[in-house]
Amino acid sequence: MQILDGKLVSEAIKAQLATKVAELKAAGKKTPHLAAILVGNNGASETYVASKVKSCAEIGYNSTLLRFDEQISEKHLLDHITMLNENADVDGILVQLPLPKHINEELVINTIDPSKDVDGFHPMNVGKMVSGLPTFVPATPYGIMLLLEHYQIPTKGKHAVVIGRSHIVGTPVSILLSRSANPGNCTVTLCHSQTTNLKEICLQADIIVAAIGKPNFVTADMVKEGAVIVDVGINRVADASKKSGFRLLGDVKFDEVAPKCSFITPVPGGVGPMTIAALLKNTYHAAIGQKVNMN
Ligand code: NDP
Repeated sequence: MQILDGKLVSEAIKAQLATKVAELKAAGKKTPHLAAILVGNNGASETYVASKVKSCAEIGYNSTLLRFDEQISEKHLLDHITMLNENADVDGILVQLPLPKHINEELVINTIDPSKDVDGFHPMNVGKMVSGLPTFVPATPYGIMLLLEHYQIPTKGKHAVVIGRSHIVGTPVSILLSRSANPGNCTVTLCHSQTTNLKEICLQADIIVAAIGKPNFVTADMVKEGAVIVDVGINRVADASKKSGFRLLGDVKFDEVAPKCSFITPVPGGVGPMTIAALLKNTYHAAIGQKVNMN
């Protein structure tokens, strides 16, 4: 069994981006600039945004963090997004989800200029991804593909089972894995809460991508010997022995599943850091006016 070390690979991607940014600066060109919007005080969201902003600083990007109170009106938030759209110095805009209930997430995403939508959630970018056109690919699926590519995981002709059909992870990763590309060319089964024979389907999988949001959901009896496991889940589970009061668990019961696998991502240190690396790549592409072609 080999660990798919997302931390290591993300550090390598960040080092490459840092070199490219230094070259842009030396050539008198624009420094990539990511603007992040955080609404409210959700602990997990705070952690994610902080690490995105910190990563920008590490590789020489500019970043702006706009923090708003939980009570911010939808109009006020949309006005700020419009200002960022019109600010020529800002290349990428991300709005950390979830948003408070009184704000329409769809409207917020639709307001972001598609050319600055580095999370790849705008319907125009989603449509381009589905159509196989160059675009911003959502960061988590993009990060997963970069990780599979780095470790040269054989995917052609393999049966990939994706558990979870969210717009931000499950659905896009199922599309990317089914593409005629490398990594890709998988036969994909997309499962969700209404799937009746999940265990049987998982036992046929050469590759499992678990994006469910339930700790330890995928157990050893669901996994074929030699399978590749990508665990997207980040679940906070109460743990009095930790200073924070919680620990992070993936969607896969790592200790019992790992011995059966050929490759597996750990949590933390797998898909999480790759998501940030992919976001930074998208921001670089936004700054130089280029899109990613996953075909
Ligand atoms: P969502 O809650 O949006 O989606 C969860 C999916 O899991 C749904 O499609 C749901 O099905 C499915 N599901 C729920 N219960 C079952 C079940 N019993 N059997 C099969 N499928 C089930 O979650 P996200 O996609 O946003 O996130 C998933 C996990 O990944 C979370 O832990 C999240 O924190 C993590 N995450 C990690 C990221 C990273 O960078 N590593 C980035 C984004 C998310 P249905 O559609 O029928 O309800």
